[in-house]
Amino acid sequence: MKHTIQYGNSEITFDLEYADRKTLGISVHPDNRVVVIAPLDSSQQKINEKIKSKASWILRQKEFFLSFHPLTPPRKYISGETHLYLGKQYRLKVKKSQVENVKLSKGYFLVSTAEPMNALKVKSLLIAWYNEKAEVHFHEMLQNVKPIFKQFSTEKVELKMKWMKKRWGSCNDKGQITLNTELIKASKKCIEYVLIHEMCHLGYLNHSRSFYSLLEQHLPNWKKTKYELEHFMV
Ligand SMILES: [Zn+2]
Repeated sequence: MKHTIQYGNSEITFDLEYADRKTLGISVHPDNRVVVIAPLDSSQQKINEKIKSKASWILRQKEFFLSFHPLTPPRKYISGETHLYLGKQYRLKVKKSQVENVKLSKGYFLVSTAEPMNALKVKSLLIAWYNEKAEVHFHEMLQNVKPIFKQFSTEKVELKMKWMKKRWGSCNDKGQITLNTELIKASKKCIEYVLIHEMCHLGYLNHSRSFYSLLEQHLPNWKKTKYELEHFMV
């Protein structure tokens, strides 16, 4: 059964199960589900109290999992399948040509290559194209976002890009922000959300209350955007 408790500004929804056991078990799953297994004789009030006492841990686990890459179905890099760019889907058309290139045209990703049946080749051409676009868009967004973080000497900020399996972005104490190149497949709003999240780490290198209030201040709608990002590519 689903239950919800309020903890500060957050709601924690959990599946409650009962089992013949002595202690209450809480687990947070990668699909963001919180499962609570309670001893048979525990009261709802006791369970809620216990969850409240573990709430900050639960929220941290959820945050951890949400930074993971969503499960994108594998691509075969053949004509007809869809590929993403800035939040839109484009159908792939691979054609044989002596000139190698990638173009977006009329809703299609047109990949020209001498080896149209070579999936690895098509993939590498698409990756190179994404790298190029990410470089342009991520830097442009950084320039747009910088002025709202004036208090953190943003001239030090160094933007890097990397294809990562487990996170959308990171920020270290030297002001190096790394964005997952794969974000170029998401909408600009989602990319901006990740960038602003990482910029907030220039002030706080953790996910503390102060961090979230700064994020909230710059992006009051961030939870909705985060949800979009995590559910978009699945
Ligand atoms: Zn973070």
